[in-house]
Formats: sequence, structure tokens, C-alpha cells
Amino acid sequence: MKAVVKYGKGKGLVEIRDVPEPTLKDDDVLIEVKAVSVCGSDLHIYNDAHPYWPPVILGHEFSGVIVRAGKDVRGWKAGDRVVTETRTGACGICYICQSGFPQVCEQKRPYGIGRDGAYTKYVAGPARLLHHLPDTIPFETAAVMEPTAVCVSAILERCRLQAGESVVVTGPGPIGLISLAIAKTAGARFVGITGRSSAEGMRFEKARELGADFILNTDREDPVKKVQEMTGGLGVDLLIETSGGEKAIAQAFEMVRRLGRICALGISGKPQTQIPYDRGIFKGLRYDFCFSSSWTSWEMAIGLVAKGLLPLEKVITHRLPIERWEEAFKLLETRQAAKVILIP
Ligand SMILES: [Zn+2]
Ligand SMILES: [Zn+2]
Repeated sequence: MKAVVKYGKGKGLVEIRDVPEPTLKDDDVLIEVKAVSVCGSDLHIYNDAHPYWPPVILGHEFSGVIVRAGKDVRGWKAGDRVVTETRTGACGICYICQSGFPQVCEQKRPYGIGRDGAYTKYVAGPARLLHHLPDTIPFETAAVMEPTAVCVSAILERCRLQAGESVVVTGPGPIGLISLAIAKTAGARFVGITGRSSAEGMRFEKARELGADFILNTDREDPVKKVQEMTGGLGVDLLIETSGGEKAIAQAFEMVRRLGRICALGISGKPQTQIPYDRGIFKGLRYDFCFSSSWTSWEMAIGLVAKGLLPLEKVITHRLPIERWEEAFKLLETRQAAKVILIP
């Protein structure tokens, strides 16, 4: 089968290769990939700015149908529509796993990063990581379930957004747009979103579609001033930082109210980032570094989308055949796209 493979350590080093179909362990299922979504992490891997274990087929955000189940698999059968968590390799016995957070286990080797992923026709993996995909959710939308679960885990589970709170999202990329949608669904009083000039057009347009209460270009306007105006000088309850940019992070410390929370989801792609540390202390802020997704966040995300409460399909802007992966990466890099779906 044809697969998009990151074949070595360094920048680039990605190409389409002919690879054998995956073999199945007794507790694995074989999934036929129906749709795979391009993640910012895939770009970071391409650029050698994210951990990965080559050679590896890229792609961790996907949906599909089970074609075969290993002999020890219970509760799943050929024909089942599925999405899967990506925490393959988590050991199950360390302190972190045993305390209920296998998604941050040190041994984790996710699909598309430390184990063959979904930029291809078939993926094999453990049945215990699957979630049922209701018929009401199209495969393309379902391919975006992984980042959605990550956002649910961060915003609703970890940072505990409450109905009636005020929110600003920094960064209108895919994670920022999904965060905006979740905050609206959760009943935030208002949700503003900020971004650079490169977001004018497509990404701000999507933010508008998702119901952003204000959209602000930080190259033209001061977001701190805007938030002060919106909140009578108080600042917002929750700041969702999805850009990983140093300037946005510094502004986040100013936009959030005293004793407010910053929910950090953006990857900087750099070894070190400066933060206004003392400002955080004197305001008594909470800064939550959020990573990966819990089992419960998947169930919540799927439930919200299935019931029509979270319009996830709106973040999809492009659909391309998998052979055109390079074009997909370009679209994201140049910020012309929100979510790009590849079809095998
Ligand atoms: Zn991802
Ligand atoms: Zn572990």
C-alpha cells in the first residue's frame, strides 16, 4: 500500500513509499482509513521540531472502519465505524498510567509519531483504544475528533470552563477554532479570538462562522486594551493560548483577570520561551500546560458532535487525496486552511 513516510531524522525527509500492509497482533484491529486530518504536529515533525521515531507513516487524527479483529478482541467486529485514541505504547503499569493518565505515559508512542499512522490505507492497533463512531458523524468530521478531545480535555476537564465565564482564545489555527467552538458550546458569556494579519481571510472567517464575539488582529489593534474594554478593566476568566507565540503568551498574562486561568495548548516549537513570570505570581494566575486527551474527553467530544451541539464540520476547509499531502502541508503553513482532510 502507498503511505506517506517520515523516513529519517532531520528537516523534510518525507515521501510516498510502497509499504507492506500492517500485521495484526491478537488484541489489535485492522482499520481501513476513511479520512485523516493533517495536524500542526505533522508539520512540526516534518520540520524536525517535535519528537518522532522514524521511519514512521504519519497521521494520528483519523477515522475508519474495522476490516478485521485479532482473535483476543472482544466487543468489536468488521464493519464497525471507529475513531481511535493515539496513546499506543503507554505501559499501563507506571505511576502515571496507574493513576489514570496513560495519555501522558513516558512510554507512549503515538500513531504517526512512534508507530505507523494513517496517511495510508490500513492501520493496525489495539482495540482497547477505540471509540464507537455513531452513524450521524461523517468520517471527515470524525477525523477531527482527536484534536477535539484534546481541547475538551484541556478546556472542560483540566481548566473547568463554567457556563457564564468570559474567554479569549489566542491563535485562530485549527486548535484555536476548535477551542472557540467548545467554549461557545460550554456556554461562555463571550468568546473573543485574536490572531495575526496572516489570519485575515480564511481563519477569521471561520471564527466568525463559529460565533466569535470579537475577532482581533493583534498586528493592528492592542488585544489587551480590547479585553479591558470588554470586561470593565477586569480581564477574562479563562485564556486559551493556542499559538505558542511569545508575544501572545505575554499578552495572555495581561488579558486574564487576577486569579484567572491560562489554558496552554500551543506548541512553541522552540526549546525555550520567555514568560512574564512575576506578573503571573502577582496576579495569582493558574497556568495549566495541557497535553493529549483522556478517555472521557473522547466520549464527551463524540457525544457533543453526534448530538449536533458542536459544529465541528465547520473547521474543515479542504479535502484532498492523500497523494497531495505536500499541498496540504503548504496550505497549513501559509495559514490558508483550518483543517485539511486527506482521503486515502
Ligand atoms: Zn494532532
Ligand atoms: Zn505508563
